[in-house]
Amino acid sequence: MKGFAMLEIGKIGWIEKEKPTAGPYDAIVRPLALAPCTSDIHTVFEGGIGQRYNRILGHEAVGEVVEVGSEVKDFKPGDRVVVPAITPDWNTLEVQEGRHQHSGGMLAGYKFTNIKDGVFAEFFHVNDADMNLAHLPEGIPLEAAVMLTDMVTTGFHGTEMADVQFGDTVAVIGIGPVGLMAVASAQLKGAGRILAVGSRPVCVELAKEYGATDIVNYKNGDIVEQIMEMTDGKGVDVTIIAGGSVNVASAAVKITAPNGTISNINYFGEGEHIPIPRAEWGCGMAHKTITGGLCPGGRSRMERLIELVKYNRFDPGKMATHIFEGLDKVEEALLLMKDKPKDLIKPVVLVA
Ligand code: NDP
Ligand code: ZN
Repeated sequence: MKGFAMLEIGKIGWIEKEKPTAGPYDAIVRPLALAPCTSDIHTVFEGGIGQRYNRILGHEAVGEVVEVGSEVKDFKPGDRVVVPAITPDWNTLEVQEGRHQHSGGMLAGYKFTNIKDGVFAEFFHVNDADMNLAHLPEGIPLEAAVMLTDMVTTGFHGTEMADVQFGDTVAVIGIGPVGLMAVASAQLKGAGRILAVGSRPVCVELAKEYGATDIVNYKNGDIVEQIMEMTDGKGVDVTIIAGGSVNVASAAVKITAPNGTISNINYFGEGEHIPIPRAEWGCGMAHKTITGGLCPGGRSRMERLIELVKYNRFDPGKMATHIFEGLDKVEEALLLMKDKPKDLIKPVVLVA
């Protein structure tokens, strides 16, 4: 079969590989919709997870099951499925302790590209199919469904980790697709005011649609000054970081009020340390919680997110600004994600 791969750090290309085979609990899936991710760009062009040779890229897919192992109970060939970006082994002690993203080691629930081939191929392998696949109901468009696999679960995790309360003032720094889903989830969780930080007009418009009450353009000046002024010097209850460099993390601590939470879903690719500003952290005594996490995966998570789309609580399909057809277009779509033109939020590739 053919797949689109990271040949080594900095190099991408099409390669031929053996079609994967299913162990007793696994499934083999062929893609129906694929989306490249900013994380794929970090992986290939910045060496985000270290060196990988000829490793097929991609971790965001909706597909059709083509083969299942002998012990798989709930899925059969022909089923249309949502495949989460995070597909842990579910029978580990880490899972018993409530940390499925780190099942088998830190971040090891992230298997596609990281530990085995990803989804940008004619076929891909899914471990523990009964626990990692979710049935795609009729009526949910593929471009909406593929957003659930990573963008939605990640953005929503931002507000979950911060435990957003009714009436909270929430700042979301970065409104690419991940931050947009943080905005949408803050709205669903009952935030009062939502300040969205970004610059691209297409993202700004959608942020407003998903519930942002105020827009802060980081290109127009220091976001700390802007947000402190907008909140009469009080700062915000919750800051969700979904873009920018380590300096953004410092800004987040500064704009978050005492007793507030800074919740990170961004990937920090540079710098030995993430600086915490001493004075604004109350010399260590401000009761500001700093947390951050990899998105939840697995079947139950996908089924819950599917419910939100099925019952029209929000529409993640609106983020699909560029739709391509045919597996071959994965390359073009990925490069679009690298260049981030002004009119892009997220490209989706439909595979017949
Ligand atoms: P995008 O590049 O599409 O969006 C980044 C956003 O951050 C844009 O709105 C951008 O603004 C804004 N931004 C950039 N620089 C700054 C700055 N200095 N100050 C404030 N805002 C800034 O990325 P994605 O939404 O696709 O992904 C966001 C991050 O999430 C990535 O690092 C990705 O790797 C990570 N990620 C994490 C996951 C997890 O499990 N935790 C899962 C998936 C992704 P502008 O409008 O100017 O472009
Ligand atoms: Zn992703």
